[in-house]
Amino acid sequence: MDKKSTKMFIALILTTTLMATLTESAPASINHAEIYLSQFGYLSPKARNPSSGGNLLAQDSWENAIKEFQSFAGLNITGELDDETVQTMALPRCGVKDKVGFGSDTRSKRYALQGSRWKVKALTYKISKYPKRLNKDDVDKEVAKAFAVWSEYTDLTFTAKKSNPVHIDIRFETGEHGDGDPFDGPGGTLAHAYFPVYGGDAHFDDAEQWTINSARGTNLFQVAAHEFGHSLGLSHSDVRSALMAPFYRGYDPVFRLDSDDIQGIQALYGRKSLASGSGSGAGSSGPSAKTTKAPTVLRDDDLLCKNPKIDAIFNTPDGASYAFKEDKYYRLTENAVAEGYPKLISEGWPGLPNNIDAAFTYKNGKTYFFKGSKYWRYNGRSLDGDYPKEISEGFTGVPDNVDAAMVWGGNGKIYFFKGSKFWRFDPLKRPPVKSTYPKPVSNWEGIPDSIDAALQYTNGYTYFFKGDKYYRFNDRTFSIDQADPAFPRPTAHWWFGCKNSPSQFSGNFELPPGSDDGVDPLFDADSNDHRRPHDDNNAAVSAHSTLISVLLPAIFLSSIRLLWH
Ligand SMILES: [Zn+2]
Ligand SMILES: [Zn+2]
Repeated sequence: MDKKSTKMFIALILTTTLMATLTESAPASINHAEIYLSQFGYLSPKARNPSSGGNLLAQDSWENAIKEFQSFAGLNITGELDDETVQTMALPRCGVKDKVGFGSDTRSKRYALQGSRWKVKALTYKISKYPKRLNKDDVDKEVAKAFAVWSEYTDLTFTAKKSNPVHIDIRFETGEHGDGDPFDGPGGTLAHAYFPVYGGDAHFDDAEQWTINSARGTNLFQVAAHEFGHSLGLSHSDVRSALMAPFYRGYDPVFRLDSDDIQGIQALYGRKSLASGSGSGAGSSGPSAKTTKAPTVLRDDDLLCKNPKIDAIFNTPDGASYAFKEDKYYRLTENAVAEGYPKLISEGWPGLPNNIDAAFTYKNGKTYFFKGSKYWRYNGRSLDGDYPKEISEGFTGVPDNVDAAMVWGGNGKIYFFKGSKFWRFDPLKRPPVKSTYPKPVSNWEGIPDSIDAALQYTNGYTYFFKGDKYYRFNDRTFSIDQADPAFPRPTAHWWFGCKNSPSQFSGNFELPPGSDDGVDPLFDADSNDHRRPHDDNNAAVSAHSTLISVLLPAIFLSSIRLLWH
């Protein structure tokens, strides 16, 4: 070894040692944590204490920022830079801020919308700069697959184009790449993307080792699917299992979109109306075959599309939703009927008669079915003992031949509906139905008499079904939810994914009117050429009231409850 190469060798060792030391200790330093918290929106630049020369943070802001980060990341909220917090800050992650705008932290854990979305559903994209170390065709396939994650649950379509203009431009870049938001080499920030109001483009750090179907390196498909979520208007979710959570979790061989992500994207673009395949842009490389079962397209002559009136609807303890009609039952996906349905009640729920009146699953995990003067209790799919029994014995105070039943999320009590009246049943009270019942259904403002079915759904809303319509009840305002299209809506379209069935009874089309050039986002106040995801996007945060109504968490105001519960 000559002098020169020895020198280089030592320099190399030094660099490697230094890098190893940095990787271990860097996030532990308060300085790095401060940079991290500022970069991802937890510390505003104003938080620096001016009285100490602008170098020291006020202790309050510091602690609050750490607490907010810990809360967002699902850690123990200590307000201190403990090991768990330091380790989480060292995870590879998306470069987009967690907190888009301040002051929206009262929401419960769930997806967040940035405040802009595309006006059109047919979107185009182009990969104008490919990664150095991957084959172009493979990248094309992975990118199409990542878009298909979102088109599977909405009517969005994504078409690859070779020339401009396109909606979403995709580039693999390193370091500074022209948008003032440089990449940081391997690890750390993996990618970032712009919300629709800022153009929708997605950039990937090409210093990462992008891989396909491999546990090594960083999985391109997963990161791309996440970034495209931003391109479509989703912010980071504080639900840990969500794709839109900010941290890279490592390769997931059986990727599946979380229900939180599905709710988020459908809040922006609605449910998928045509329950087939995964959109034209996805082609055959869509993830549906591998990851989730594609829902069956109900034919127009299917019983449920022709006459969407149902007998009962309920959730099982594992979160699946079922609709019962006459002698058949249907398992429901987020937007349609699951593959392989309908099935016969006599085969799926042995011992249960056809044409039931009502059903619900109670918090003991048992499902109760009602018909005439009798009820049946199931543990999963097995009849749970000596049933049927008489309603008058097991549910004293509740009439026979009920229309609908549900467990209301507002108080966990059981509600029965029949004609123009309803009863509240509390198994822990004696008597379980208070003497002040029944009460008029009209207490549920806007809900008609003689409903067919009722359901407290997993998103915190209560749904009432009657004939071919359903109503979404906002438990917070205690009235029918305000949305576009308005409620009631056709059940066939929104719940069963019936082909060719209308999405509304009258009024406007699904999206508010606007120009249809497709490039402008819906809420483009002040957009200019402000193409930076790290800006405080305050101008874009004031979302449309339709979106706000979708976002409202189901908070139950005790004052409202006191009126009549
Ligand atoms: Zn992100
Ligand atoms: Zn960039």
